[in-house]
Amino acid sequence: MSNPTRQPLETCPSCGCPDLFIRKDFPQKIGLLIVVIAALVFLILASNPHTFYLGAWVLVGAAVVDALLYCFVPKITICYRCRAEFRDVPLHPRHGGFELSVAEKYRQ
Ligand SMILES: [Zn+2]
Repeated sequence: MSNPTRQPLETCPSCGCPDLFIRKDFPQKIGLLIVVIAALVFLILASNPHTFYLGAWVLVGAAVVDALLYCFVPKITICYRCRAEFRDVPLHPRHGGFELSVAEKYRQ
């Protein structure tokens, strides 16, 4: 449950860094798992001419599931310096996606 009274982060609560970016909180492992399972199911079904098309639909279905997943995953705020992730805060309108030029400032 998100708290509506919470303010967007101006600085990182962990290290005080003023540079934060926003990215999708996409579960990479789940995305990969869907692709791997769909590929395996396709290979099994495609080995039989009678179920070949079924296999093709499994691939299409997996792509759709991945796309839907991507649409519905929440966006999270991340600190450039300490890479802390903040899920329960509103997004700050000033924050954008990851920028390499900003990240370079914080490389050790
Ligand atoms: Zn930080």
